[in-house]
Amino acid sequence: MSIRYLSTRGQAPILDFEGVLLAGLASDGGLYLPESLPHFSTDELRAMRGLSYTELATTVIAPFVEGSIDRQTLAELVEASYRDFRHQAVAPLVQLDQDQWLLELFHGPTLAFKDFALQLLGRLLDHVLTRRGEKVVIMGATSGDTGSAAIEGCRHCEHVDIFILYPDGRVSDVQRRQMTTVEGSNVHNLAVRGNFDDCQALVKASFVAERFLPENRSLVAVNSINWARIMAQIVYYFYAGFALGGPDRPVNFSVPTGNFGDIYAGYLAQRMGLPVNNLVIATNRNDVLHRMLTTGTYSRQPIEASLSPSMDISVSSNFERLLFDLYEGDAPQIAALMDEFSHGQIALSETALARVRSLFTSARVSDEETCDEIARLWQQTGLLLDPHSAIGTLAARKCHRAGDGPMVTLATAHPAKFPAAVASANTGETPQLPPHLSDLFDREERFHTLDNDLTAIHAFMAAQCRP
Ligand SMILES: *Cc1c(COP(=O)(O)O)cnc(C)c1O
Repeated sequence: MSIRYLSTRGQAPILDFEGVLLAGLASDGGLYLPESLPHFSTDELRAMRGLSYTELATTVIAPFVEGSIDRQTLAELVEASYRDFRHQAVAPLVQLDQDQWLLELFHGPTLAFKDFALQLLGRLLDHVLTRRGEKVVIMGATSGDTGSAAIEGCRHCEHVDIFILYPDGRVSDVQRRQMTTVEGSNVHNLAVRGNFDDCQALVKASFVAERFLPENRSLVAVNSINWARIMAQIVYYFYAGFALGGPDRPVNFSVPTGNFGDIYAGYLAQRMGLPVNNLVIATNRNDVLHRMLTTGTYSRQPIEASLSPSMDISVSSNFERLLFDLYEGDAPQIAALMDEFSHGQIALSETALARVRSLFTSARVSDEETCDEIARLWQQTGLLLDPHSAIGTLAARKCHRAGDGPMVTLATAHPAKFPAAVASANTGETPQLPPHLSDLFDREERFHTLDNDLTAIHAFMAAQCRP
């Protein structure tokens, strides 16, 4: 039986996996999620313990894509997605102290966990589009990690042209170069004269006015509202859980959180059968979720720049997917709540708040604490963490409860992606880029600088699409 996907707001067409892969945001403004989740019994989970990362990924993902992609094909796409990760284990687990662990998710091509989803997404898209004889255009805005991971994931796709918009002069040198030095006739970097919000607004407006594209070409979203990204991220929660004694011993996760995509995948792993006691939402000063959990009110606030830019958000889009479960799948109520939220803030019902608090805890970590934590871990373990991961390890210790079992922090980026932030921790160490990127600063950059002007950008894109 293949899984059907529906919108959190209940008014968009129900889709199969292929449909949801190509869809992005639902037409009613909601987010797609599976109508029912696969569930693994304890015996099934025990049988999965010895699997390699790619075998496990195939097992966990197969039920979600059934009816669209056969198992053998899936296994090949998964294998190709993780083959170039620089660590044999793909997602190695490192012990920090007695019951604190680090899951290193930065061994992919662009050194952030986003590679786990986007390497697979590119291959899934190309496979499905080849079969359908169609081509698509990917358009995304980035303030950092998403852009390079999406470009790396799609650079070899025959049927995809990819356009990434970033604010001119406002992304770090490493992050920009990871995008602009990629060779590929289908890869287009657009430096927009504006800020990140401008870039995001341009992308949003483009999804409303798709007709600027050549005939038979549609736009696909690669931000974390795309269901396939969430799906790929569920796998490493199982992988870490098994490594630490699951399913016979519950585990806990601390997740550096921005848009709530990554930790939502952890929540899904728990619902699919993995015993988890505590999911820690680790935030920087942009603490919309921490305030929600402590006060019961979900309210947006202006973005403030921090040392962990990939978590600088004013709202967490994927939280709507959790809300859907907190309100027992009552789509009309979610639509009403999100409408209310667009005018300011919402208060969670007592029941909803009790539900979210039964699994999630949270902590906010300041820039100063982040630096102290990087320095502390360096001194105690000899490991150099990036600022996002350090927020995770500190939140893990703040929220760890005796008797809960091992706590795993997701290390979401390699420290060399954020050298300035790591330098401010005064460890005296400068993180080095791994060998495949060591000549990053010698490579030729390619990008086009464009005005913050929708018509001009559309004309540019239409002209650049491959025939
Ligand atoms: C994207 C990102 C995050 C936040 O992940 P969400 O899924 O948006 O919550 C955290 N750390 C790093 C390094 C990232 O790139």
